[in-house]
Amino acid sequence: MSSFLQTPIVYLKGVGTNRAELLQKELGIFTLSDLLFHFPYRHIDRSKIYSINQIEPEMPYIQLKGKIMHFRTVGQKRAQRLVAELYDGTGRIELVWFQGAKWVQEAVKEGKEYVVFGKPNLFNGSYNIAHPTVDEPDEEGGKKYLRMMPFYTVTERMRNRALDSKVLMKLTNALLADERFNVPENLPDWLVQSYKITSRKEALMQIHFPENNAKLQQATYRLKFEELFFIQLRLLAYKQKQKAIYNGIQFSQVGHYFNTFYNSYLPFELTNAQKRVVKEIRADVKSGKQMNRLLQGDVGSGKTVVALMSMLMAIDNGYQASLMAPTEILAQQHFETIKQLLQQMDVEVKLLTGSTPTKERKVILEGIANGSIHLLIGTHALIEETVVFQNLGLAIVDEQHRFGVAQRAKMWGKNKFPPHQLVMTATPIPRTLAMTLYGDLDTSVIDELPANRKPIQTVHRTESNRLRVYGFMREQIAKGRQVYVVYPLIAESEKMDYANLQHGFEEIANMFPMPQYQVSMVHGKMKPADKEAEMQRFVKGQSQIMVATTVIEVGVNVPNASVMVIESAERFGLSQLHQLRGRVGRGAEQSYCILMTKQKLSGDAALRVRTLCNTNNGFEISEVDLKLRGPGAMDGTAQSGVLDLRIADLANDQLILQQARQAAQQLLEKDPTLALHEHKPVAEFFAEYTRLSKWGRIA
Ligand code: ADP
Ligand code: MG
Repeated sequence: MSSFLQTPIVYLKGVGTNRAELLQKELGIFTLSDLLFHFPYRHIDRSKIYSINQIEPEMPYIQLKGKIMHFRTVGQKRAQRLVAELYDGTGRIELVWFQGAKWVQEAVKEGKEYVVFGKPNLFNGSYNIAHPTVDEPDEEGGKKYLRMMPFYTVTERMRNRALDSKVLMKLTNALLADERFNVPENLPDWLVQSYKITSRKEALMQIHFPENNAKLQQATYRLKFEELFFIQLRLLAYKQKQKAIYNGIQFSQVGHYFNTFYNSYLPFELTNAQKRVVKEIRADVKSGKQMNRLLQGDVGSGKTVVALMSMLMAIDNGYQASLMAPTEILAQQHFETIKQLLQQMDVEVKLLTGSTPTKERKVILEGIANGSIHLLIGTHALIEETVVFQNLGLAIVDEQHRFGVAQRAKMWGKNKFPPHQLVMTATPIPRTLAMTLYGDLDTSVIDELPANRKPIQTVHRTESNRLRVYGFMREQIAKGRQVYVVYPLIAESEKMDYANLQHGFEEIANMFPMPQYQVSMVHGKMKPADKEAEMQRFVKGQSQIMVATTVIEVGVNVPNASVMVIESAERFGLSQLHQLRGRVGRGAEQSYCILMTKQKLSGDAALRVRTLCNTNNGFEISEVDLKLRGPGAMDGTAQSGVLDLRIADLANDQLILQQARQAAQQLLEKDPTLALHEHKPVAEFFAEYTRLSKWGRIA
């Protein structure tokens, strides 16, 4: 970056100490470069001149050309204002100034032609423009103003101190007009050519003051591309480095354990998607390079068995494997499932969580260290210092939250020989998000549900249908099915939520009385042992109804449960609703999800409910979720600084992201260490970027 752009903002003409302080405090603008990168949030097209008879009430801004006549002052004292009229041959419109009358009358000559720009207001049946921008048309008939006018974010405090969007526009204009202003290109020449990218300098000028809409689009594209390109370059360089540094453990054979399980104990035929993913994993682990793979699959698509078969590959080659889950309940569930599947085989499986008793813990730690335990399942307890494997060959993480590169690296950094890594996401995440958060990983997708599944039927109901909903629950229970009733639990109103939960439980207990019905309840404030006991009652079929908060969200597997009633569904996020719904539809029976909401829904809530009623496809749902909430608000993404994007938008810029990733890949293929002379600018920029970016702090 040139030193000129590093100049403190106070030295820019028109700034001074007061404004500099305001810019720093309110917008974090310290240098000229910061100002340059404070992009407008929109432009108003001033390329068009309308005639007065074309004005319509919904026009936000309008540009007119005509003669200004009849200046006069009207009103008394404080209400006094300067009024004039603009004529353009099609009509007349009033121009009004509440302040600066003296200056206006000096600058504007009556009877002369001007270009007038402003917001039309309807007042007493006719239009006026208050405080219009008045410019002289230049010789070529107004060409000077044929451009897009930028609008900048400013804060209330700035506006109160007369530092508004227009002032920012002038300051930026002054910056760009300075003869020292220059921005070197930071992308390689061949890349700029082949992707038809506007130069960096041009883009930074056009993003503020585009000559026309096409130039604005090109500038926007360039800056989005650049932003995404360096993120991808970083991810891919990281991936490349991982591969270069670590000679992965080689699982050269598929042997006894895998084959025995596959041939004798696998309780169902794998779906084609599961088979494909097992093959992809197989290819990785025998390659001699460390596997770093992301496994995406919808709720219920059968990721667990894929995880298990991968772990058996490790055991077949004399290595241990681990599976880490985000919660105790889920870890427990994985443990039960896997122990069950392996019960006829001589595989030693253990569970380690925060609540494992000290004595047992000691025994487990020994077993892990001497290699007598083959598979270790657990929570975050697995990555504590005290857990030392004899030879861990494969580490699987079943993620609820998205950790991002740096945290993942830390997890297994203590191992001398890094194991193969498989990351599984609880629900699908949008492609753009996956490419950004997990861009250093190879991806496998299970895009097919087991064949015996009947798609869950989802309906929307309100309070007035409540008795019928209970009737439906009774019918299902009479058929031998079980029912979940879930209440939201959202931190800021926790007390009320618990009251609702308690009230709901009592109502259900009343409507479904003992001894005919048994009702369980589980929530986060219960002691783990009580929670577990209630859970087990439901799992074993001793209770027919489970009233719960979202603690059951992840992973719980009760195939006999066929109805999911979600109370106050409008308060849940889309992916959370989808995940909850995924608790049913796990057996061969037709399953149902009932979304209970209040009568009147906000637009977003209505869209969430509608989306869920219309589709069971988690990939589609995640895309809608991204569009609704933006990447920063998606589950667990907040930890990752990668998503603080300046201009690119992961909800809408999928194509640009793909190109940027492809370009970064091409660059690394040509020049893996960015050592070529022609890549000096990109290498230097990249080094600086890596040093300064937020991501750098955690990496
Ligand atoms: P998720 O991908 O959500 O973790 P699970 O691994 O928990 O899904 O699988 C959901 C259910 O589907 C489990 O009961 C599992 O036994 C079953 N399942 C998995 N794969 C198949 C298959 N190929 N055919 C039939 N059932 C399957
Ligand atoms: Mg799972």
